[in-house]
Amino acid sequence: MSSDIQINLFNQNNPLTATVVENKRLTPQSRGDHHDVRHVTFRYKEKFPYVPGQSVGVLSPGIDPRTQKPNKIRLYSISSARTGDFNDSQTVSVCVIRHFWSDEKTGQKDIPGVGSHYVCNLKTGEEVKLTGPFGKHFITPPDFQNRDLIFVATGTGIAPYRGMLQEIYQAPFKGNVWLYFGVPYGDTALYDDAFQAFTRNPSFHYVKAISREEENPYSNVIPTRSNKMYVQVRLYENRVSLKESLSRRNGLIYLCGLKGMEEGIFPVLEMIGKDVNHEGSFVEFLKKEKRLLVEVY
Ligand code: NAP
Repeated sequence: MSSDIQINLFNQNNPLTATVVENKRLTPQSRGDHHDVRHVTFRYKEKFPYVPGQSVGVLSPGIDPRTQKPNKIRLYSISSARTGDFNDSQTVSVCVIRHFWSDEKTGQKDIPGVGSHYVCNLKTGEEVKLTGPFGKHFITPPDFQNRDLIFVATGTGIAPYRGMLQEIYQAPFKGNVWLYFGVPYGDTALYDDAFQAFTRNPSFHYVKAISREEENPYSNVIPTRSNKMYVQVRLYENRVSLKESLSRRNGLIYLCGLKGMEEGIFPVLEMIGKDVNHEGSFVEFLKKEKRLLVEVY
């Protein structure tokens, strides 16, 4: 990947000071706190060169009650293009879900996650401390214009593709893009209007997997929890074009989101490998060729 990608320009001892310019809820209020996802934009005065797919760290002030130590930095994938949402290279945006966790030891449920609640509660004009940028591998390659790109996301794992897509369609792009997006409900599809707008490009294919509203018609081949519609089912459904992209058009496949999503997707890729008479693991082959990029946590 490109060597001019900058990393670690700002750290905990030397953070980037920024101001919140936008904090917008991306899902309906009626879906409640557990589906509260925010698009948050920070403005800064210094230089913070990043590319979509890299991450930014957010320092939440205060002491972690569990460790009695200062709160740890939380990393979020950057969801803006490198010129930022205001096109002046002075902002960076993230996409954050209000996270809740359960304490297995005490049995306590719905404990608000410190980092995500800090970001989701930020008000316009508030000052924040950022670190980064981080990561060099989950980015588009310099020669992306002539290749097919398959983006697969679950939930807020959609973040990096927003900025990547903006850059792809500002370039003289000759490939195809498939965006597979797994969400619980139709109205929790983040940035849906923006992705719908990209469909005016005939090369852009937008495919949603709405887990709690759609059923899996291929559960005998691609089993999913409670027969839910998951992204791996959509990949299987579109296996003919997926095969074409991965075998003939030097395509890249990106996975971003929930840890564990790769377990359902790799078998679909192995099926394609078999179909093209690839010997050995197709997943390992794609990884080795840096054509399968995974960012799950
Ligand atoms: P979510 O709403 O919990 O899940 C998104 C969708 O994925 C739902 O439809 C869910 O279905 C489905 N799903 C659940 N398990 C799956 C599996 N094994 N295979 C395929 N689909 C599955 O997602 P979220 O709460 O937004 O979480 C996204 C994750 O991405 C977090 O773990 C986050 O740490 C990570 N991430 C975030 C960023 C970022 O910048 N914010 C970047 C990279 C990764 P059901 O719930 O109906 O089962």
